[in-house]
Amino acid sequence: MRERTGITSGRHGNRPRAFLEDWSRRMDGGPYPAYRDLYGRFALQGLEMEVLRVQPDPFAGPSRVRLLIPYESTVLDPALGEFPGGACASEPGLVDRASARGVGIRDYLGRWIGLWLQNQGGGRRSVLSMVRHDQQMLDRSSVFLRPGRLEVRLSADLPARGRRILGREAFRLLVETPELLVRDCLGPGAIDTGAMGRHADSAEDFARLQEVLDESSWVAFVADGSKLARRAGNDDRPLEEGEVIPFVSPDSMRREVVLPHAGSVAGMAVEPGITLLCGGGFHGKSTLLRALAAGVVPHVPGDGRELTAVRGDAVAIRAEDGRAVSGVDLSPFLHDLPFGRPTDHFTTENASGSTSQAASILEAIQGGSHLLLIDEDTSATNFMIRDPLMEELLESHQEPITPFLAQARTLYEGLGISSILVIGGSGEYFRVADRVLLLDTYRPHDRTEEARRIASDRSALPLDSASLALFRRAVGPQRLLPAGPGGDSRNRRVRAVDPRRLLVGRVSLELDGLETLRDLSQTRFLARFLAWWTGEPLAQRAGNGDACRSVGDLRESIREEWSRAGLDAFDRDLRGDLAAVRFPDMLAAVNRLRDRPSPGMDWAIEGEK
Ligand code: ADP
Ligand code: MG
Repeated sequence: MRERTGITSGRHGNRPRAFLEDWSRRMDGGPYPAYRDLYGRFALQGLEMEVLRVQPDPFAGPSRVRLLIPYESTVLDPALGEFPGGACASEPGLVDRASARGVGIRDYLGRWIGLWLQNQGGGRRSVLSMVRHDQQMLDRSSVFLRPGRLEVRLSADLPARGRRILGREAFRLLVETPELLVRDCLGPGAIDTGAMGRHADSAEDFARLQEVLDESSWVAFVADGSKLARRAGNDDRPLEEGEVIPFVSPDSMRREVVLPHAGSVAGMAVEPGITLLCGGGFHGKSTLLRALAAGVVPHVPGDGRELTAVRGDAVAIRAEDGRAVSGVDLSPFLHDLPFGRPTDHFTTENASGSTSQAASILEAIQGGSHLLLIDEDTSATNFMIRDPLMEELLESHQEPITPFLAQARTLYEGLGISSILVIGGSGEYFRVADRVLLLDTYRPHDRTEEARRIASDRSALPLDSASLALFRRAVGPQRLLPAGPGGDSRNRRVRAVDPRRLLVGRVSLELDGLETLRDLSQTRFLARFLAWWTGEPLAQRAGNGDACRSVGDLRESIREEWSRAGLDAFDRDLRGDLAAVRFPDMLAAVNRLRDRPSPGMDWAIEGEK
């Protein structure tokens, strides 16, 4: 015991490699909790290793370790340490031009190190592991390019036999593996710096493409030759070569962009306004829309969607019946509810399909979105459309919903909110569309003229100034985020369960509507963000938790935190398994909270893997 106290006091300086050598021999067979001796930093050959978290027992969530590797120990160029984006992107969840190169290189290194560690593990249970990287290139907390050195955050299962320390294995895990990693994974001849450069080029091209969208005021671009189809609904990898039909732009929409690495690229440029994707079932409408929704961030080379991009503020909207809605002004879409229920401050624990969709649209606009992506497959029919026959049957006061069809032009002309809609079932939408694409065997054709002709005997649905006033009020700058009633003190844990579900205490927070959320690391980030949002910093600023009342204030506080500490802003524990999400997605999570926890509550994050 005395020994352990002595060791703890040594935490501030780097302990030598020899300490670990001696400790692992001495403590072999010792009680598992003695691993706590190893908190702190060690000087190994060619790097420093720091133990950040020690699991309390062999079955608990993993321990966490970070490696600080001087560039000189590797073949990496020390200039990497000066990259903008080497520590985090300029804005949470987005990869802009300035940070793209840094994010791309970090992403490559994360994958490379992860792969190397996997091979190293050779089926052993106790391994160092890198968080999983899928198809997206994200701003992650697993690898940072710091001045002078690379920082790599890993998780580790500290080795045990029963509840006893396995000293030799621990030495291998914490000393030999990191030293080998520096030599055999990042050393001369080991890492392909050319491939790393091309990976980063791809991120830069994507970021430039998003910039071109802005400059040309387009809302989306899909390069000719893109391969949008995925292997399965739960498998984001590209469909096998040979099975996929590459994207070809309709001639009328083909534009050329010049990118720093790919050079001149042709593809479909979508201008602002209302764009319909029509066509028979199984012709690729939803696939195209999903690829667009994914196009807020870059994808890895070979993914097929490298040059598919949308505005960074695009939000996919779907019906989420059952979601919670708190104090949203739904009057642009909803009026005359049964029993005179108010629509300008609508609150429910259990929204219907149509009200959930209306709420999500208003929240997206408040979050700053200028592009809505809506698929009929995941929409409430009565929210999207009411046809003339139904109109005749229902007297207007009986139907509280103003369908999206009637408001689409007001949204666009009055507020500059574009939409891209998958509509296979209703030609009524021809009356509001700026362009109509027909998908035929996965290829879009421009059928705008034909659709106009067909709809010509029916009046177009114009901007409606009364509706515009309602929208303006509903998304006005004064709107407050609903304040929470006191949380249950037992609700102390928030946990990412799967990419679109969090557990807040025992209450599930469903994020099915967040199409851009694809990675558990992003969901963990949201968990951390929620803990931060309800936690100390804001409460202190206002004294009573009132600081963060408007959406604008929330955004401002997030910006402040982000510029202070980047990815670690919402995370005291320096976890290596987070990936930043965009502001609209953070707002969406806040808006879907059921049991609003009180400010100042100290949320613990369960040690999930
Ligand atoms: P829709 O929404 O028009 O009914 P989907 O987008 O769901 O059609 O696509 C139907 C099927 O076709 C899906 O299994 C999808 O993976 C596949 N698919 C979509 N685009 C392509 C493509 N370009 N090449 C090959 N298969 C595709
Ligand atoms: Mg579909």
